[in-house]
Amino acid sequence: MTTATKALRHFPWCAPGKCESRPETQSAEHYGQRLLLDAPDGMDMGPAYLLHAELYVDDRYKGTSLWLGTGDPDDDEAVLDGPQLDAFIARVTAFRDGLAAMRAQLDAKPTES
Ligand SMILES: [Zn+2]
Repeated sequence: MTTATKALRHFPWCAPGKCESRPETQSAEHYGQRLLLDAPDGMDMGPAYLLHAELYVDDRYKGTSLWLGTGDPDDDEAVLDGPQLDAFIARVTAFRDGLAAMRAQLDAKPTES
């Protein structure tokens, strides 16, 4: 007699082939596509990216989280919920705005005082 296995139901953000069924606990772990912030040319830091981010959920536990880590494989990763991710997005946006302001000033010539 065969045991019917329940088909794994995925989230819209699941990356094909990355999710894992856990028959022993009748659960599953879901993984999204990994997003990378590449390091600029000339920055020699080992990995070719500054940050990585990925959605994750183990359906035995609470809701979906975002894993965020640096390019250093020895660094801890942060696990962010929605409000924590909102706060981080605000920081990234402020940093991006600062970069854009510096870019606008990059070609400025000195003025006499
Ligand atoms: Zn999945």
